[in-house]
Amino acid sequence: MTADPIVGLHHVTAIASEPQLNLDFYTRVLGLRLVKRTVNFDDPGTYHLYFGDDLGAPGTLLTFFPWPRVGRGAPGAGEVTHVSFLIPLDSLSFWEQRLASKGIPFSRGPRRFNEEVLSFSDPAGMQIELTAQAGVATGHPPRFSDVPSGHAIRGLSGVTMLQLDATETSGILSVMGFHQIAAEGERLRFASSAHPTAFGSHIDIVVDPRANFGRSGAGSVHHIAFRVASDAEQRDWRSVITQRLAATEVLDRKYFHSIYFREPGGVLFELATDQPGFAVDEPVETLGESLCLPAWLESRREGLQQRLPSITLHKGGTEANQAADPHASGELYRAGVALTEAAGVVILLHGRGGPARDILTLSRALAPGRIPLAFLAPQAVGLAWYPNSFLAERELNQPHLNSALARVQATADLALAAGIPRERIVLAGFSQGACLATEFIASHPARYAGLIAWTGGLIGPPGSTLTQAGDLLGTPALFASSDPDQWVPWTRVQESARIFTAMGAQVDLRGFPGKPHSVSGEEIELARQLIERAFAGAQAKG
Ligand code: ZN
Repeated sequence: MTADPIVGLHHVTAIASEPQLNLDFYTRVLGLRLVKRTVNFDDPGTYHLYFGDDLGAPGTLLTFFPWPRVGRGAPGAGEVTHVSFLIPLDSLSFWEQRLASKGIPFSRGPRRFNEEVLSFSDPAGMQIELTAQAGVATGHPPRFSDVPSGHAIRGLSGVTMLQLDATETSGILSVMGFHQIAAEGERLRFASSAHPTAFGSHIDIVVDPRANFGRSGAGSVHHIAFRVASDAEQRDWRSVITQRLAATEVLDRKYFHSIYFREPGGVLFELATDQPGFAVDEPVETLGESLCLPAWLESRREGLQQRLPSITLHKGGTEANQAADPHASGELYRAGVALTEAAGVVILLHGRGGPARDILTLSRALAPGRIPLAFLAPQAVGLAWYPNSFLAERELNQPHLNSALARVQATADLALAAGIPRERIVLAGFSQGACLATEFIASHPARYAGLIAWTGGLIGPPGSTLTQAGDLLGTPALFASSDPDQWVPWTRVQESARIFTAMGAQVDLRGFPGKPHSVSGEEIELARQLIERAFAGAQAKG
């Protein structure tokens, strides 16, 4: 048996009552993002609302079936009684003030396993905790939130179950790679041995042999799902679990694939795959904004929409975030194969005046037919990544320049989330887009599949320090430019090529005397060759 260890929770699913109250609480109070608005696949007259970080990453997700007329549940033995989210340690007072200002009663409990914990109820009566820890990762703060990104909820910390006896539950947790790491009073803490610091890696059991059984209803946790990396891992885990417990067949939940089984203490467990994720049926930019249905329910869309209560998504902090981060809400265009099928990703960055669709037309010329590549082309808001020349003082191009770099990162994150590492990502751009691609790689040094800079170079005024620390580890870098060029001095292209060489890139510097400010057929061919070499031997995934 060689199944990889389970990392932590994938999501928690609970029962809510009024969908609008549920939506408002999780987006406008806790600042999570609604990452999917769909229906309960087993009961399509009910919404299924998914909340999470900006990308809906596994480990950040809390989902609800809102049943407007359901009675309140009562937590009891054999149930998950508390769901806990992770916040940075220095965000505690921010959250105390925020909850107080929203009129949410909360309590700050005694320290637990050396963590500070804020406890409160959601509108359906579910017990929520914010667990503060030092050194939590930045993650992907939701773009439409008025919670400053430094204070944003990062993801799940874990859950607490109430059990009459922990023996059998701890037995199955141990099979799943979760072992007891601490105990405090009646509370036992289990964590994944392989990934003790992953989101959702803490499973607490409070043991109370005299506890009553609960009643399912609004505010009850329906099930908790653990992450498995792939369908193959899921099959392996299913065969492990079914040696002890009955488990369902694999069910297609569209955004992940699932098996379910009830642990001996009574809690419904699920194993959910990381893929395909929430961008499978709508762009990341507009996640959650419209009703998404699986193919087999599309024919019933009209009837379902009439039957479902209407809800309004208020995108809190939109204006403020857009002013500080203007490109965060820009559109993304795609060509080539789906990320889930891709051997690599080419991020195409348009020049001033764009649009993204134009540069995306190069995808056919750049993709050698047998290599499955996904092309992603984010579009600048207003079709310019920054307002002034790339030779201007950097401050004059803010906040657009930093926002543009963040947008490149967010685009690369889509590939990373699909399991495509940086060494299989090419950044390519023309003019402003070439400068942005060059600047991004120099400021995020790593081994990339390649840089293609058609008429562009590092950003900053002449005479300023452009050099960056870090190792590009042999990243192939094509600098191809007209000489002279109306906008991009050849000397800057040469200087950028020198810096890339010093940083360990394999640089190919090409000047084309008298070429207009555009991408020539010869430059496209050089880029195609770089891509072909970078992905030599890549084949379509099984
Ligand atoms: Zn689930």
